Amino acid sequence: MDDKLAGMEHSEAHYFNSYNHHGIHEEMLKDEVRTKSYRDAIYQNRHLFKDKVVLDVGCGTSILSMFAVKAGAKHVIGVDMSSIIEKAREIVEVNGMSDKITLLQGKMEEVQLPFPKVDIIISEWMGYFLLYESMLDTVLYARDKYLVPNGLIFPDKATLFLAGIEDGEYKEEKIGFWDNVYGFDYTPLKQTALTEPLVDTVELKAVVTDPTPILTLDLYTVQPSDLAFSSTFALNVRREDFVHALIAWFDIDFTACHKPIRFSTGPHSKYTHWKQTVFYIQDVLTVEAGDKITGLLENKPNSKNKRDLDIKISYEFEPADPTRKAGGSYEYKM
Ligand code: SAH
Repeated sequence: MDDKLAGMEHSEAHYFNSYNHHGIHEEMLKDEVRTKSYRDAIYQNRHLFKDKVVLDVGCGTSILSMFAVKAGAKHVIGVDMSSIIEKAREIVEVNGMSDKITLLQGKMEEVQLPFPKVDIIISEWMGYFLLYESMLDTVLYARDKYLVPNGLIFPDKATLFLAGIEDGEYKEEKIGFWDNVYGFDYTPLKQTALTEPLVDTVELKAVVTDPTPILTLDLYTVQPSDLAFSSTFALNVRREDFVHALIAWFDIDFTACHKPIRFSTGPHSKYTHWKQTVFYIQDVLTVEAGDKITGLLENKPNSKNKRDLDIKISYEFEPADPTRKAGGSYEYKM
């Protein structure tokens, strides 16, 4: 373990250690939807970056810092707690940007910045289900402490969506597996399997309902307390099918751009390393076009480990035909 992590809570040290290895950064850099969206948002807006002081919150390998320098920033400060920042220093050096980029190893909440204020914050903070890992808290901390009035945040908007899917085959393989394990009844583990959302790619053809937004975050105004939220939803069924699970994904917007840039991590979009998050439900809903699945999704950071999430989904399905009625309430942990 890194010396800098000594004394830190175990779960926090574990979190930062996970970013020490180059493999996780390789996965993010190779995610072209992600990395090219940031690059386009920065390169296509040189008029915004020219001569500005920029803060890269959680700079990792410093890719966003270097984009900002190329777009004309006067100076970029990159902050990261993980030891990957040592490699970032070498990368910045070999790319001849050492005089333009200051890299600081430490927690964003604890480091001393060489500038009292910054004009722009850039950060890639999104986790699975948007909020897993809770890094957004760190960006909001940086915003409140360092961003000049009317400063810019890249990206500045995030929207979380929900939809219903048909996923009989996989649900059977994943959940039904516990019904009979080498002739034994393993159903006590079935409940556990159901409480864990699955991060996986979902094919567009599996989506049975219209998507509906359940959370929209404006990064200029959102408060850490808003990240524990509850949202009602109503999902319109598009076709006759079954619903085995609900899925969530998010879209990200850079609205400050001259030509706004948006990317989606939904099943209708190109693959990203965030994939989609699948919440299996106990019931199998038999649905027809025009039916509605209504409910409530509640999310809050886990009280023991704030980077984990406790998610509760309650739903009611009330078609005209009473034999198809269903409802339930499930708690998930991720
Ligand atoms: N900006 C890079 C890396 C994004 S991953 C890129 O786009 O490729 C997020 C990074 O933020 C990780 O390297 C992690 O160590 C860092 N990080 C998360 N919370 C932090 C905090 N509170 N203080 C400092 N670094 C943090």
